[in-house]
Amino acid sequence: MTRGPAAPGAPAAQPAPSPRLVERMRPFTTTVFAEMSALALRTGAVNLGQGFPDTDGPASLLSDAAAALRSGRNQYPPGPGIPELREAVAEHQARFWGLDVSPADVLVTTGATEAIAAAVLALTGPGDEVVVLEPYYDSYAATIALSGATRRTVPLRAPDFELTEEALRAAFTDRTRLVLLNSPHNPTGRVLSRAELELVARLAVQHDAVVLSDEVYEHLVLSGARHVPLASLPGMAERTLVVSSAGKTFSVTGWKVGWVHGPAELVGAVRAVKQFLTYVSGAPFQPAVAAALRLPEEVFTGFAAQLEAKRDLLSEGLAAAGFAVNRCEGTYFVTADVRPLGLTDASALAWRMPEEVGVAAIPVQVFCDDPSAAPSLLRFAFCKRDDVLHAAVERLAAAGPRLAALG
Ligand SMILES: *Cc1c(COP(=O)(O)O)cnc(C)c1O
Repeated sequence: MTRGPAAPGAPAAQPAPSPRLVERMRPFTTTVFAEMSALALRTGAVNLGQGFPDTDGPASLLSDAAAALRSGRNQYPPGPGIPELREAVAEHQARFWGLDVSPADVLVTTGATEAIAAAVLALTGPGDEVVVLEPYYDSYAATIALSGATRRTVPLRAPDFELTEEALRAAFTDRTRLVLLNSPHNPTGRVLSRAELELVARLAVQHDAVVLSDEVYEHLVLSGARHVPLASLPGMAERTLVVSSAGKTFSVTGWKVGWVHGPAELVGAVRAVKQFLTYVSGAPFQPAVAAALRLPEEVFTGFAAQLEAKRDLLSEGLAAAGFAVNRCEGTYFVTADVRPLGLTDASALAWRMPEEVGVAAIPVQVFCDDPSAAPSLLRFAFCKRDDVLHAAVERLAAAGPRLAALG
């Protein structure tokens, strides 16, 4: 979405939103991803802007979905999701994270996006505050705006993106209803430590807030970092809604099969909203995802190992081109600072790179409320085929000192 001042080289201003568009959605009429992807397409740039893999997930997952589709699983599935998938999610949570989840408390959603939207709409409204880490995933801001609640951001700052007690404490008030947590974190690539999660847990308990824990990158953890599910901390299972999705884990981002689980009462509240957003979706995908969640551990760890090599390939190329590359422990993304190039405005560079360098990336500032949060950072997606990453690295190297003239 467009926020903050337009950067030089940014696409021409979009037509003004319809005067009929409700006030609270006016800042959200377009997304930077759509604009940057369109620019990448127009200029033939390697698109490291939008975060989706360019290879498909496990073969069995694809053939299971095709078989389900051909065997007539094409009508409305049950509202909470098919029983096999709800059972498979519960088993997966026990197998990987030691969480004790009843299938009755799992709700299947249209991607993690719908789970987040339904939870925010179910649990917050005007006058309530939602604590989010900044930079934040773009749907959070729009969804909180839809609910009428107010977002309170907690800065994670480069190069280490650590969550400090001071920053977290400053965001909580007596109006805090919900903490929208995300680890592994998009766009920084940070995986929060147990100590950082304990801070969140302590403040959530103190303020009697619910935590909505977006764990879509739970399996995409690199560098020996470890994902700790917030719900595994003492006292947290009873106030945490855990959200994940098949999209990121199995490289099928277009399927939009997600889920949320937590205490029965909270999941019931989310279901009340979810049933009127989409009712149900993904009938033939649901049995396929259920089977995939039961695949051997190598399927889950294998993709992370591939991603680690991809992160290194791209990070080395970025460093060689003169960027300062920040800590990255997981997700699809690495951030890089333009200041060593002699530049200050990453957004200006981002809008000129597709044309001038042949590579597209996203300025991290678009994920922030604070205008001074991340002016010099770019987010690059490394979840791409090696030949695509090599092409990006070669183009960055070929640009050489010209990069410095593009800010
Ligand atoms: C991709 C992503 C989502 C959305 O997941 P879907 O299953 O595609 O809806 C949610 N949260 C974060 C942090 C993401 O990166």
